Amino acid sequence: MDRRDFLYKSGALGLALAMGASSCTSGNSIYRNMESSGTARNLPRVKVSLDRVIKETVGLRPYRLSGPRLEVQKLGSKTIVHNYGHGGSGFSLSWGTGNIAAANAAATGEKQIAIMGCGIIGLTSARLLQEMGKEVTIYAKELWPKITSSMATGTWSPSHLLCEEDRITPQFKSTWEQACRYSFQAYQNLLGLGDLVTWIDNYSLLSSASVKGEAPVLSVPGQLPARRVLSRREHPFKADAVTVQPTMMFNIPSYLQKLTNDFFSYGGKIKIREFKTLEDVDALPERCVVNCTGLGSKALFGDEELMPISGQLSFLIPQPEINYRLTTPHGYIIPRKDGIVLGGNAIRGSWNTTPDPKQTEVVVAAINEAMQQMRG
Ligand SMILES: Cc1cc2nc3c(=O)[nH]c(=O)nc-3n(C[C@H](O)[C@H](O)[C@H](O)COP(=O)(O)OP(=O)(O)OC[C@H]3O[C@@H](n4cnc5c(N)ncnc54)[C@H](O)[C@@H]3O)c2cc1C
Repeated sequence: MDRRDFLYKSGALGLALAMGASSCTSGNSIYRNMESSGTARNLPRVKVSLDRVIKETVGLRPYRLSGPRLEVQKLGSKTIVHNYGHGGSGFSLSWGTGNIAAANAAATGEKQIAIMGCGIIGLTSARLLQEMGKEVTIYAKELWPKITSSMATGTWSPSHLLCEEDRITPQFKSTWEQACRYSFQAYQNLLGLGDLVTWIDNYSLLSSASVKGEAPVLSVPGQLPARRVLSRREHPFKADAVTVQPTMMFNIPSYLQKLTNDFFSYGGKIKIREFKTLEDVDALPERCVVNCTGLGSKALFGDEELMPISGQLSFLIPQPEINYRLTTPHGYIIPRKDGIVLGGNAIRGSWNTTPDPKQTEVVVAAINEAMQQMRG
């Protein structure tokens, strides 16, 4: 396995653990219900065809070889608190790394704080600083829907395309775990607020070859229920192996809108501004600046560790009755309010944000095949 493909390794590993743990979880009441009522056999079908595709997007994950940068840096008269480089885990880790960045910013004793960037990382950092009584202004070149955060799938994936595996130190693990735990709890507090955050069953269709693996490199035991290998009568799919695991998902547009509205409600201001040089940053009136510019930090702060990993999403017409997530070897679906999101690719180093019709065809074909082969 390519060590760079941390994401894929993590996915396979989780399964191995889950298989080991499956006998422990078989008494879980949720699954007893599922088995006795046959709910899993009656999953509704997604209507998949190219003429139901309503939107395609390509987002650039801000991938950093050593993982998110959370350092504090002196720059002229300013203290810069970095919080960027979250790869494919930005939504999942946002509250946790935001909490670390907010504590670093608060330690300066400044009352007025500038945030650079208005993606999920800037917004959560801003809200946490407001909760500490700070007066916060966000400066950003672009806002939703043009930013990477608008182009995310929106599932709980705190170690997905996060860093190079061989750069994970004990210190990194400890910080990651702290961020992961904080974020997880923050998301539980958002449950029940409409459909911003929900729990959903994720079914994974696997070839027999992928039902192998090692222990995950980054994991927090006890957050998600163990992934469970299903017997054939417990699912309607055609695959060598099928697993199910509850997970969290975020409805991206309504969630980003809530964060923005909350930020304004607590007196926050947003100013459209592009920082081309560090002199532009130094010219800000605030003496403490939290840098949440994602990939923008590559040019602005000369961060050679940053690179894009692009990901294309194709949206099908929404189907409110679809209440499960499905992962196949060639793509996945996530049922969101704004559409059935189809995705699954990751191109390292690609800055190209033009959707590729062939990628849509691949994932539409993969999901279509899975739907056609469903029993019942
Ligand atoms: C296809 C895809 C699927 C994903 N799925 C998930 C998922 O399921 N779960 C998950 O946790 N994560 C997921 N992610 C990852 C997540 O989207 C990112 O980690 C996260 O959005 C990064 O947020 P950010 O705020 O750092 O960056 P951005 O959203 O890019 O925001 C950066 C902000 O900084 C501003 N900026 C940048 N440069 C400058 C400058 N020079 N001057 C002024 N402003 C500047 C931008 O205008 C913007 O406002 C996914 C990403 C992609 C692409």
